[in-house]
Amino acid sequence: MRQAIGGFHLDEEGHWTADLVCGHRQHVRHDPPLMSRPWVLVPEGRASRLGHLLECKRCDELGAALAEAVRAACIACAEDAFEDGGIRGLCPEGRLELVRDRLRATDFGSVVSDAIRALIEEWELRKRSGPPK
Ligand SMILES: [Zn+2]
Repeated sequence: MRQAIGGFHLDEEGHWTADLVCGHRQHVRHDPPLMSRPWVLVPEGRASRLGHLLECKRCDELGAALAEAVRAACIACAEDAFEDGGIRGLCPEGRLELVRDRLRATDFGSVVSDAIRALIEEWELRKRSGPPK
């Protein structure tokens, strides 16, 4: 997902980092010949890039994790309700109505909160263990 640059700061190692409006950060090093971003070295250059869009992998990961968590919760809820409807001897329309009622009553906010918490823990673990080797 592309996110706008809202500002810049130097990290603890002295590398320029873009602060994206989503709250995530991304290094924008000038490290020729690997990365050529001479604009990042001067205030005018950084100011000229405010509002520019960068791909934010963390937002992509977050979107995918939330979609998967909600999908899994919907499937589990629907399967449970459908089975309950069968045990109660409901007709197909009754079972479908029970599935709808249970989906409406499910607290997907907690599903989303749990998924966000799990992903943040995963990011913290990755940060502590360093870049992949
Ligand atoms: Zn982001």
